[in-house]
Amino acid sequence: MCVFSNWNDFVCIINNMIDFHVHVFDPFFINNRESITDSFFESMYSDPKAKMATADDLIANMDEYGIEKAVVCNMTWRNDDYCNRNNYYIINSAKEYPDRIIPLITLPYEFTQLDVQSSAVCFNLGVMGIGEQRLPLHYLASDNSPVDYLASVLKDANRILLLHVSEPVGHQYPGKEKITPEALYGFLTRSVDTTKVLAHFGGGFGFYALMKEVKQVLSNCYFDTAATPYLYEPDIYNVMDKLVTSDRILFGTDFPLMTPKKVLDHIGKGSVSDEDYKKITHQNAEKLLERIG
Ligand SMILES: [Zn+2]
Repeated sequence: MCVFSNWNDFVCIINNMIDFHVHVFDPFFINNRESITDSFFESMYSDPKAKMATADDLIANMDEYGIEKAVVCNMTWRNDDYCNRNNYYIINSAKEYPDRIIPLITLPYEFTQLDVQSSAVCFNLGVMGIGEQRLPLHYLASDNSPVDYLASVLKDANRILLLHVSEPVGHQYPGKEKITPEALYGFLTRSVDTTKVLAHFGGGFGFYALMKEVKQVLSNCYFDTAATPYLYEPDIYNVMDKLVTSDRILFGTDFPLMTPKKVLDHIGKGSVSDEDYKKITHQNAEKLLERIG
C-alpha cells in the first residue's frame, strides 16, 4: 500500500515520475489574458484566479515534486493564430528543456485535413502527437470526418492523440462539454489502431469496458488521471484497474490546475498496490514513450 505520511520521504523514493498531462502558456497569453478573444480560453482563463503557467514555472514545479518528465499539452483554441503561437512556444520550450518536456501540439477546434498535414510536419521536430484536443461532436459522430484523417496520420507517424473527454453527467466546471458516449464510441471504433490517451479517465467511458466489444475497442487507449481529485472518489484507480488494467493508467495532473502532490495523495487514498503505483506514476508512460519514441 502507498501511504504518504511524509512527503519528503516519498519524493526521495520515487524520483522518476512522468506527469502525462500538463499545460503551459506563452507569457503573451498570461500577460494579456483580459484581451484574448477565444471562447475556450475565455471560459477557462478569464477568471484571474484561474492558474496559468509558463514552461519555467512548470520546470520549477517538477523540481519541487520530483517529477522527471512532463508531457506538455496545448489547449484547444478556436483562434488559429493563438493555437499556432502556443504550439511554437511548446516546441521551443521542449528545445530548451529537452530532457524534461515532451511536447504535444493542438489543432484548431474545427480543423481541416490541411491543418492536419501542417501539424504533421512538427512530428519531425520531436512533437509526440496531438493534445489536449477537443473535438466537435459531429467530428466524433460521423465517418470520414477530419478526425478520422487525423487518426490515420497519427497511426502512420506512430504518434498519439491525447483527447479531452469530460463526463456526460455530474457537476459543471469550466471546460466541461457535451461529449456523448455513443459519439465517442463511434470514433474509437473507427480508430482502434491509433494510440489514444483519453484525458480525465475518459469521462468515465472506461466503465463500459465490461462489455466485451467495448473492451476490444479500448485496447489501444490509455486513461490519464488529470484533475481526478475534482472528479472521482479515490476508488477510481482500482475500479479502472479491474475494468481496463492498470497497465494503461497514466499519472497526469492538469498542472497548473493541480499540483502533483494533490493527485499523488489521491492515488494514495485509493489504496493501489505498490506495483500499480509504480506503473501509474512512471512505468506505463515510459513504455508508451519508448514505443512512440
Ligand atoms: Zn488538461
